[in-house]
Amino acid sequence: MNTVTRPRILVVGAGFAGVECVRRLERKLNTDEADVTLVTPFSYQLYLPLLPQVASGVLTPQSIAVSLRRSKKYRTRIIPGGAIGVDIKAKVCVIRTINDEIVNEPYDYIVLSPGSITRTFDIPGLTDHAFGMKTLAEAAYIRDHVITQLDLADASDDPAEKASRLQFVVVGGGYAGTETAACLQKLTHAAVKRYPRIDPGLIKWHLIDIAPKLMPELGDKLGRSAQEILTKRGIDISLGVSIAKAGPEEVTFTDGRVVPTRTLIWTAGVVASPLIATLGAETVRGRLAVTSAMNLPGQDGVFALGDAGAVPDEAKEGDGAICPPTAQHAMRQGKVVADNVIATLRNQPLKPYVHKDLGLVVDLGGKDAVSKPLGIELRGLPAQVVARGYHWSALRTGVAKVRVATNWTLNALAGDDFVRTGFQARKPATLKDFEYTDSYLSPEQVRDRIEGSGTQEP
Ligand SMILES: Cc1cc2nc3c(=O)[nH]c(=O)nc-3n(C[C@H](O)[C@H](O)[C@H](O)COP(=O)(O)OP(=O)(O)OC[C@H]3O[C@@H](n4cnc5c(N)ncnc54)[C@H](O)[C@@H]3O)c2cc1C
Repeated sequence: MNTVTRPRILVVGAGFAGVECVRRLERKLNTDEADVTLVTPFSYQLYLPLLPQVASGVLTPQSIAVSLRRSKKYRTRIIPGGAIGVDIKAKVCVIRTINDEIVNEPYDYIVLSPGSITRTFDIPGLTDHAFGMKTLAEAAYIRDHVITQLDLADASDDPAEKASRLQFVVVGGGYAGTETAACLQKLTHAAVKRYPRIDPGLIKWHLIDIAPKLMPELGDKLGRSAQEILTKRGIDISLGVSIAKAGPEEVTFTDGRVVPTRTLIWTAGVVASPLIATLGAETVRGRLAVTSAMNLPGQDGVFALGDAGAVPDEAKEGDGAICPPTAQHAMRQGKVVADNVIATLRNQPLKPYVHKDLGLVVDLGGKDAVSKPLGIELRGLPAQVVARGYHWSALRTGVAKVRVATNWTLNALAGDDFVRTGFQARKPATLKDFEYTDSYLSPEQVRDRIEGSGTQEP
């Protein structure tokens, strides 16, 4: 028997977009107006822009895992699991819970904010040997992996082994890849002082990108500054170059160079969560094609946003521009989408999402940074103050702010201990192991599942 009388709002994903949406729904909805449910595999919101600092040990993993349950107005039901398919006709979301049960969750309104996964290409060996930088587990794993290479290189008497363990390749000259290479190079540069049997000259970081510039969104001058800073620190930057082949002990660049390495970090862009494809609806480069009010045209009560939604960028001139996949947009879209869900519920008009980009901050480790807040170009310490100040103020809870500030202070004063935790040792560590890319159903499987089981009302 259906005992539910209130409309059911289902939010998928507790990232920048999903959490802002849920918080706003909790604040603005009357208690008896609707039931809000959040599906999320983790009990935290991950502050992704600080992930390279976790990989490099400047921050502990816990400091950027912001609790979902530390909220005064808390009344959302949380389902611990991942959505693996959505049937928008039947209005049912199929969920795999963290204890591997498959459940059908009916809804009246669905907000799709499952973010994105690492984008890969059909390059031989890539998915078997590359590590990503999208999840907390990946950042923690990479840190351990890099320290492991130093430990093993230090112990080895084989020059070939030493060479391959002490070269590191990062693919992707966007902000994620550049920050990752910069922060990890700082880690190995500082750590090598504690390894007397390693010649520091053998450590080499390669940052490569098929594009002709690093971080084109920074503009020519600032992009060049970032490149100069990194080159001065000994990072080998190759532009117009990608990977032709990846193996366990070497990678081959498209310019023919073969680099002996056991560390290939792949950050060459993102693509919307595979959940979006399960809807069988129109997409724009993998993101769900939505209106500027973030709803799916012709479908009642389906919304998508953040990295998973192709939201028209109304602040940009010219037709067809969509908002870039950034936290800056995702957070703000989360608020507007909550207002639009409530407006739909109350039969009120929806409002479009409009936001003019505020710029970019790029932390290159230590005192090195480049930032472009509101079009003002900054380098060095002022850029670093803006970068850290921006991230610090964007952290959602006071406790997270204190944790991050304490970690920054401790790291600046006492440095790093370069401890390898071993939590992930001997576990599979490919992109699919960390990003669960093969967990999703096809649109047909979703339909079969729902038709087969019958949609059960709770
Ligand atoms: C290293 C790095 C640095 C970055 N730096 C910046 C920066 O400086 N500034 C900036 O603006 N942006 C930055 N970004 C981009 C920014 O983090 C993303 O654009 C932003 O996180 C998108 O928000 P979202 O809510 O769409 O997705 P996310 O924040 O990724 O959240 C998605 C959530 O959904 C969950 N999820 C995934 N699949 C499912 C599923 N099937 N079911 C249920 N839940 C699911 C995930 O666990 C996650 O919690 C950076 C990204 C990276 C990787």
